[in-house]
Amino acid sequence: MTRPLAIGIDVGTSGVRALAIDDDGAVRAQAQCPMPAPLGSHGRLEQAPAIWWLTLHATLAAVARAIPAGFAARTLALDGTSGTLLLSDRKGEPLGPALMYADQRAQAEATRIADTAPAESGAHGASSALAKLLWLLRERPPAIPFRVLHQADWLLARLGAPLGTSDENNALKLGYDPVARAWPAWLTQLGVPAGSLPRVHAPGTPVGTLSPALARALGLPAGIALVAGTTDGVAAFLATGASAPGEAVTSLGSTLVLKLLCQQPVFQPASGIYSHRLGELWLAGGASNSGGAVLRAFFADDEIARCSKALQPTKPTGLDYYPLLHPGERFPIADPALPPRLTPRPDDSCRFFQGILEGMAEIERLGYARLQAAGGERLLSVRSIGGGALNAGWTRIRADRLGVPLLPPAHQAAAYGAALLALRARQS
Ligand code: ADP
Repeated sequence: MTRPLAIGIDVGTSGVRALAIDDDGAVRAQAQCPMPAPLGSHGRLEQAPAIWWLTLHATLAAVARAIPAGFAARTLALDGTSGTLLLSDRKGEPLGPALMYADQRAQAEATRIADTAPAESGAHGASSALAKLLWLLRERPPAIPFRVLHQADWLLARLGAPLGTSDENNALKLGYDPVARAWPAWLTQLGVPAGSLPRVHAPGTPVGTLSPALARALGLPAGIALVAGTTDGVAAFLATGASAPGEAVTSLGSTLVLKLLCQQPVFQPASGIYSHRLGELWLAGGASNSGGAVLRAFFADDEIARCSKALQPTKPTGLDYYPLLHPGERFPIADPALPPRLTPRPDDSCRFFQGILEGMAEIERLGYARLQAAGGERLLSVRSIGGGALNAGWTRIRADRLGVPLLPPAHQAAAYGAALLALRARQS
C-alpha cells in the first residue's frame, strides 16, 4: 500500500523550493531550483510570470522524481512572495510583467489608499498589492476584461485550480478584510472592478485538482488536491512549529520581522501592527526597517563571523543604538523621519558590531512589548529564523532582554510551512 505525501512549494525571492512530507511530518523528498532576480531599478521591480512557472515546473518535476517507492503525493499547497501582483486575461494569460513585492513606484496610489481605506487595512503603503493594482489600472489600463492575481494565485491556476482563487493571507495587502472575511466596498470607490478580484479561501482549503496533463508530464499520480496556500512570511512562520497562542517567531534576515500567534486580531496601524488570519487564530506582526542589512552595510561576511565569535553577551556595551540604514521606521515605532542612531562609534569594530546587535535586540524587545500592549497574547516563547538566528552570542543577548525561552525552529524552509497546509487539508 502506498503512503500519502503532502507537497509544499515555496516561490521565494531567489528560487523555488519543494518538499514532500509524510503523515508524521517527515521530509521524504525535496528539490530546489534558482530563479533569476527581478529586473528593475529606482524602486521598480518587474518579472515575467513565465519565469516563475518554468522554475516551478522544473522544481516539481525534480521533487516528483525524488519521491521514494511506496509513497504517493496526494495534496499540494504553495506560497508566494507577499505583495507580488499581476493582471491576466480571463484565461490566465498575463497582460504584462508582474510588479514584484518590493516595488515602490505606486507612491501616488498609496496616498489615494490612505485617503479611502480604513487605517487598519493591510493595503496601506506603496508596496501593497492594492497600490500596485491602482498603478497598473492607471498606467497600463487593460483593454479587455481582466483578473487581478497574486503570484501564488496565478501559479495555483496554472497547476489546475480555477482562475481567480486566492487565500486570506495573500489577499490582505490587496485590501481583503480578514475579520469580515470579505472584499470591502471601498475598493469599488477606488475603481477596482469587483469581478476582477479573486475568490478568497482560508489557507489549507482544497480548491481544485492538479491538471491531469500536468500530472502525467510531471510523473505524479492523478487526482492530487490543490490547497489554498499563503504568503512566504506566513509559510516560514508555520514551518518553525510555532502553533499555540503566545508563541512567536522573529525573522533575523535583511529586515527584522516579528510575528506573534494570538487568539484575537491585533491592528494598530500607528505602530505598524497588522494581523493575518490563520485558522481560528491570528498572526499579529510587524516589520522593522532595522535588520541584517544594516550589518552588511558596515561589515564584510568574514568580519561578521569574526565579531560574532568575539561577542560578550554578559558585558553590554551600553551604546544604545537604533540601527537603520536611512531615516524612517515602520515598527515598533512608526515614524517616517526616525533618524538612525549609530554614534558614538568605538574604535574597536567588534564593539561597534555588538552595539548594533544590542540595538536590534532592543527593537525586538520593544516590538513584542508593543504587540502585547496592542492586545496581543502574552509572549511565551520565541523561535528565530534567518541569517542572524545562527549567531549563538546574539541569541544570548536577545534571550536576556526578552525574558522568555528562545526555541530552535523545527524547520527553516518556508516550503515546509506550505507542506503543513497541504497535510492538514488531507487530514481534516
Ligand atoms: P534575507 O533572506 O532576508 O536576505 P537571510 O535570512 O539570508 O536574509 O539572512 C541574511 C542576513 O543575516 C544578512 O543581512 C546578514 O547581515 C545577517 N547575518 C548573517 N550572519 C550573521 C551573524 N552571524 N550574526 C548576525 N547577523 C548575521
